[in-house]
Amino acid sequence: MPMKIHLLQVKDSSRDFHLEADIELPGLADRVGTGHVTADVRVNPSGERWYVNAAVEGSFPFTCDRCGASFSGRLAGDFMLVVLAKAGGDLDPEDSEEVVLLPSGVQEIDIGEQVRETLLLALPMRLLCREDCRGLCPGCGANLNEEPCVCHREDADPRWGSLQELKRKLETAEAAPAAGPKPNEVDDGRPEEA
Ligand SMILES: [Zn+2]
Ligand SMILES: [Zn+2]
Repeated sequence: MPMKIHLLQVKDSSRDFHLEADIELPGLADRVGTGHVTADVRVNPSGERWYVNAAVEGSFPFTCDRCGASFSGRLAGDFMLVVLAKAGGDLDPEDSEEVVLLPSGVQEIDIGEQVRETLLLALPMRLLCREDCRGLCPGCGANLNEEPCVCHREDADPRWGSLQELKRKLETAEAAPAAGPKPNEVDDGRPEEA
């Protein structure tokens, strides 16, 4: 959704704008859903340019990277932008992403792109439903925040011995047939069957 500011009406003194939009952040697959975002923007006019300062905040539905649970999180940040009414002068839009030229005949700018970039920068590397999320057991798939792990219980059962012992037995069982002769060759060669 666009977030537009009518610049031509800001002439002599600074003016504040409050914008709201539902915004989707690109490239995040199912990790982040559509969030409700607010932008508090102050526009200061100065000659043939406008200085735009925006504080952005949004609440988004997240999916936990560890356990897959849904939870709600907040992203916030700010950015500034210089909008030129005319090309030329000391600022060049090609030098900086923070400088943009208002095309002639256009009265408003859409800051949606800057808002999305600011929110993306605020996104943590890992989205966790809580700091100590225990995630899913890679063995039995149990959500360890909610239920105990089933495979861990078997390992702890005295009938199975220690995990180390079980692992050793499995390795021995796997190695034996490959190392020895094929079963029919064993039958043919056994003296007690001859
Ligand atoms: Zn989690
Ligand atoms: Zn498990």
